[in-house]
Amino acid sequence: MRARGYSPFECSSANDALLDRVVADSGPGTVAVFDLDGCVFDTRPRQVRIFRELAAQRGWRQLCAVREEHFLDWSLARTMLNAGIEADWVRENEPTVRGWWNRCFFSSEYVMFDHAMPGAAELCRRVWATGAHLVYLTGRDVSMAPGTESSLRSFGFPYNAVRSTLLVKPSVDLDDTEFKAGALDSIASLGRTTVYLDNEPANVNLYAQRYPDAFVVFVETDHSPREDEPAPSIPWLRSFWRTG
Ligand SMILES: [Mg+2]
Repeated sequence: MRARGYSPFECSSANDALLDRVVADSGPGTVAVFDLDGCVFDTRPRQVRIFRELAAQRGWRQLCAVREEHFLDWSLARTMLNAGIEADWVRENEPTVRGWWNRCFFSSEYVMFDHAMPGAAELCRRVWATGAHLVYLTGRDVSMAPGTESSLRSFGFPYNAVRSTLLVKPSVDLDDTEFKAGALDSIASLGRTTVYLDNEPANVNLYAQRYPDAFVVFVETDHSPREDEPAPSIPWLRSFWRTG
């Protein structure tokens, strides 16, 4: 089963129970690992901004129709079709849109347009308050670190405090899952990993295999087109927003 796309304010008592378990499984000597894009950060505002800027530069008014709810997966063509843009236009111009999107999306400047997922910073503060070490483990590369650090601080995530670490890819070409596999040892040096949250099926499967006793959670937003699916034992979190 594939993720259904972002729904940041969808809440339920079952979802609350997953959030409570994240906190309950954290404590002194433990490590809680949080992915960033599509996990504790909503990347759709960044992407809408990218579309709007291209619309202004090229005079492509149709791109102004793209809104947050049109991003259901990583296909820009499908996103434009979801926004009602004519199929022939999408086919002809998708390479230009993709080129512009690639230049902007993977930049320190544009990550600052992301919004924190509602409730995510509060959850991280609760986890940090237990005495756990927080690791933000991201597929963003080192060139994107300054904007990422600024975002973490401005949305109130524990950062620049003791027991908080940001791990970014050393190079943009490195595969995200390979990077996250390679980070296992440095994370292990910080303590015992008991919590892992990510929106990429291959990544949650990797950590669930390595840490069978940890609480590994699949965050249901969007993800890559890879065929992997979360292992059946892994719970799905719909949002970080609580019922009350
Ligand atoms: Mg992610």
